[in-house]
Amino acid sequence: MRARSAVVGSFVEDALSWYRTGAQATLLRLLRSPCSGVPHDVAAAYATLARRTSDLLEQIDRGQLALPSEDRDRVLAFAQRMRRIRSLPADLQERALRDAVVQTFSLPSTAEELPEAHAVDRERAEFELADPLTPEPASGVAAWQKHFSASALNTYAECARKWFFKYACAAVEDPGSAASAYGSAFHLALEDFHGEFPRPAGAQEPLMRRRIREYVTWAFERNRDGFETPVEFELQVRRAQRTAARYIDWLLAQEREAPFEVLGREVAAELVLDGHPFVGYIDRLDRDERSGGIGVVDYKTGSIAMTPAEYCNQVRRFRDFQLPFYYWARTAAGDRVTRLLLIPLKDALLDVRPIVLRVGANIAVAELERSRSRMIELSDELASGKIETFKSTKDPSACVFCAYAAACTTKPPAEGQRFAS
Ligand code: SF4
Repeated sequence: MRARSAVVGSFVEDALSWYRTGAQATLLRLLRSPCSGVPHDVAAAYATLARRTSDLLEQIDRGQLALPSEDRDRVLAFAQRMRRIRSLPADLQERALRDAVVQTFSLPSTAEELPEAHAVDRERAEFELADPLTPEPASGVAAWQKHFSASALNTYAECARKWFFKYACAAVEDPGSAASAYGSAFHLALEDFHGEFPRPAGAQEPLMRRRIREYVTWAFERNRDGFETPVEFELQVRRAQRTAARYIDWLLAQEREAPFEVLGREVAAELVLDGHPFVGYIDRLDRDERSGGIGVVDYKTGSIAMTPAEYCNQVRRFRDFQLPFYYWARTAAGDRVTRLLLIPLKDALLDVRPIVLRVGANIAVAELERSRSRMIELSDELASGKIETFKSTKDPSACVFCAYAAACTTKPPAEGQRFAS
């Protein structure tokens, strides 16, 4: 019985907190409470949706989920009530506030009176205490048996705990974002484009400009599901079209300066390092027509280093293994790799200016060797099965977009909160 009245009590407390702060997390708790009047499965579906869009009430107003009319009315009534509570006068006394919440939601005094839609929740609210389980003896995480990848090591270098969530637990992954859909679509468009234009040439400029527009349009259509709304989709397509036009500008300038041929797109990169198999895919492989040297190209639609020196520094600090891995994979395949390129494709307002590392000039082979040795050390460590604790990063910026932040109890305080208490 106490558990039942506790349900109502905590709902009222949350409603008061919502009245004061308007916090989305509180609103989601309220939605999922048996007192909300919204069926459990509908509440769970809207909560999942709102976590991606961060505005629950707007999602409800828009009727983002197709629901039977009875459920739709319940969820709309919830939104209306929450707005009513939020707009209560600012000078109401605590007692009057509580009464207003109870009245607005016609709250029962005990859980026996909870609405029919929550019969299951009522049952859940009753529980019996059980004997505690005997804790299992502590041991290391099972040895990593599968392939390694440079991006997995990048994750481990960024935050060992994130690696643990993502690769050892196979925890539920981030459902994806508009940024990742944008990246996938743009990669696809360039893959198709260079299939048709392996040797970009000034004489083909009008055709290249027309075709890249078509490839971008087509690639985004294929990734349409990755965008939340038609407006967002349209905005991202336009952004990609502008960026693609700048990419052609750069391609033509590059062709005049140092003509090249595209040898491969989405090329599989495989390498065994001290018994550890690594796999990956290289966005593009180029051959310089004058020197015959091979260039490894990685398209980047997110934030990246701004200069070759900055990227080299990340390699030296063992924060990025992507291009060193590609270098060693292609070298092992018999290529003479002379250039490593990151091509930024994020900002439609800036010219495309690749980060180019010339092997032996911007980055020494010895540095690439150190990176390879570190990859071996890290994969030895992960394959040992002896790691007992995967430590959290100390850098709060790594947590901002971390899909596991909600489950992570040891993340560092956010930058803004560090000196707050
Ligand atoms: S929230 Fe931060 S500390 Fe926790 S796993 Fe993610 S990146 Fe690591």
